[in-house]
Parts: sequence; C-alpha cells; structure tokens
Amino acid sequence: MLSTDGPIGTVRDATPRRTEGRKILECWTSGWSAQAVASMGPEERIDFALGEIEPILPGARENFELGTSIAWDDERYIEGAYILPERGHHELMEHARRPEGRIHFAGEHTAYEPNGGSMNYALESAIRVVIELSGA
Ligand SMILES: Cc1cc2nc3c(=O)[nH]c(=O)nc-3n(C[C@H](O)[C@H](O)[C@H](O)COP(=O)(O)OP(=O)(O)OC[C@H]3O[C@@H](n4cnc5c(N)ncnc54)[C@H](O)[C@@H]3O)c2cc1C
Repeated sequence: MLSTDGPIGTVRDATPRRTEGRKILECWTSGWSAQAVASMGPEERIDFALGEIEPILPGARENFELGTSIAWDDERYIEGAYILPERGHHELMEHARRPEGRIHFAGEHTAYEPNGGSMNYALESAIRVVIELSGA
C-alpha cells in the first residue's frame, strides 16, 4: 500500500496473494481530487491514474491491460462515500445532531468524531438517536 500526497491518493495491490503474473492495482482518492477525477470520462480517469502512478511505479503504463473506475458520488443509491470535513466542520456537528421537533438526525456527519470516514461513527450516531427516541 502506498499513501501518496498527490491527487491519486492511496495506491494498493488488490491482489496481494498473487505473488506473480497479472495483478490488480487499485487507486483510492477522496475529497476534492476525487470530485475532479469523477468529472472526467472513464478513459480519461484511467489515463490520469496511469500518469500519476508511472513516476511511483515505473512501467505501469507499459504493463497496463485494462482498468475501470467508480465514483461514489455518481452512484444513484449511494450519493457519496464518507464525509469530507471542511475547516470548522467540528463546530457544526453539535448543531447537525440537534433534533428538529420529532425529526432526529443520524449519520456519521452527526457523530462525535469530526473526521468520520467509518461505519463505526454512523452506528454510534444511530445508537444516540435510539437513546434520544427512547427518552432515556
Ligand atoms: C468504497 C468505500 C469503502 C468503505 N470501506 C469502509 C470500511 O471498510 N469500513 C468502514 O467502517 N467504513 C467504510 N466506508 C465508509 C462507510 O461506508 C461510511 O462511513 C458509512 O456508510 C457512513 O454511513 P452513513 O449512514 O452516515 O451514510 P451513508 O451510508 O452514505 O447513508 C446515507 C444514505 O442517504 C441516502 N441519501 C443521500 N441523499 C439523499 C436524499 N436527498 N434523500 C434521501 N436519501 C438520500 C444515500 O442514498 C445513502 O443510502 C467505506 C466507504 C466507501 C465509499
């Protein structure tokens, strides 16, 4: 696994048990760079990724066979991935979890961890809402 400070984000071997032969390389980007890549066409995304990987793993482009990509923002039943905290986000969190009348708010963005990015925080927020609804 390689953590880069470039727009490509994390690069990892998705086939670690295959010690030789063809492999799958996965790139995982998030935040604004992910949104920039998501705005590209499918072929352009692959070309962009290869351009970013080549200096890190020379020969990547030459050995490339095929690739695919997914942008979670574009997935109809998902509409995003994990939260993207901006500066000052933590100040909004207590307001985001405040009930509005009979409506209670869950989701990782309402949890107590400002950086989010995990189901743990979504589940934590769900427990909080259940406690709120039970009047405990
Ligand atoms: C590729 C990937 C891998 C991940 N791997 C892990 C992992 O290994 N472990 C881990 O802990 N976390 C992982 N996460 C993060 C985890 O998925 C999130 O932290 C978690 O799903 C957040 O839960 P949530 O309930 O807050 O939001 P979500 O699960 O995003 O739920 C929000 C829901 O609201 C719906 N919605 C959006 N807009 C509207 C609207 N206008 N009206 C009605 N509904 C709407 C969406 O369709 C969605 O179903 C991963 C995320 C991604 C994208």
